[in-house]
Amino acid sequence: PELTPDARIFVAGHRGLAGSALCRRLRAAGYENLVLAESSEVDLRARGATARFLADNAPAAIVLCAARGGGIAAEAAQPADFLSDNLRIQLSVLDAARALRVPRLLFLGSSRLYPRESRQPIRETSLLSGPLEPANHTYAIGKFAGMAQVRAVREQDGLPWITALPTNLYGPGDNFHPTDSHVLAGLMRRFHEAAQTGAESVAVWGTGTPRREFLHADDLADACITLLSHYDRAEPVNVGTGRDISIADLARMIADTVGYQGGITFDPSRPDGTPRRVLDIGVLTALGWAPRIRLRAGVASTYQWYLNSLALPR
Ligand code: GDP
Repeated sequence: PELTPDARIFVAGHRGLAGSALCRRLRAAGYENLVLAESSEVDLRARGATARFLADNAPAAIVLCAARGGGIAAEAAQPADFLSDNLRIQLSVLDAARALRVPRLLFLGSSRLYPRESRQPIRETSLLSGPLEPANHTYAIGKFAGMAQVRAVREQDGLPWITALPTNLYGPGDNFHPTDSHVLAGLMRRFHEAAQTGAESVAVWGTGTPRREFLHADDLADACITLLSHYDRAEPVNVGTGRDISIADLARMIADTVGYQGGITFDPSRPDGTPRRVLDIGVLTALGWAPRIRLRAGVASTYQWYLNSLALPR
């Protein structure tokens, strides 16, 4: 079903990295009727409140970006909190949407659902073909539950709901927490602070050899709009760039961007996580989407956003 510009679109998680980018892109594309739930008003983990909110707002489409998570250290520290919250958010939104027969829904899964030893670049057919990376296990199982529910509703109720599997995201609005963030934002903050203080060395976690793929949240947002408009199948779709970079090279790129000139060391006592994760994006590019933001340019603009956010009163 084609979305008209006046369609009411509920972006669940509109304050997050993915959701905020999607709102910007939807508005720029002429979609003005965004339905947004402030967490102070609607706790998406709560079934009753979520069901009432959706019934009152009757969206024509939902993009489920809301989730709790963090980088490799946060996931290790709080797996029970993240899994419980994510299962509850998913089920309250999906059940409420199902009761209302919301005609279009896009669920955001993650490339962390792929087996640790997947053949690279990873095709959608690799799902469930082997054991998960332990560092991503709990998070992935939660996302699997959401993806299975989306597919089950599609089969049982005939609603055209779909799932996307984005790779590692970054961009404006990312979480720059010193320890709980994902790698790109975490290193950006650490190198920025080292450049400010004139530190002589910065420690990067792990060996620096793992390879990851980084997608700017604005590119993900465009992909979501493409999928909502042109994709209607049960199989989830990868969203990435098809290009990967080692953590060591990412660290050097970030050091350059922030003007840090000291040394870089690696701390192998910290976990590496999965050795390599880069997606095959053939299914999505066949629909006419392509990533537009090159990593170096995206890192530079994200750093500008970070500097601006530091200048804002808190
Ligand atoms: P992952 O992609 O699911 O493994 O999660 P992350 O976004 O947290 O990336 C983790 C990778 O970056 C691992 O190889 C880490 O060892 C490495 N890394 C290096 N420095 C950092 C850091 O400061 N924070 C985080 N989160 N990861 C780091």
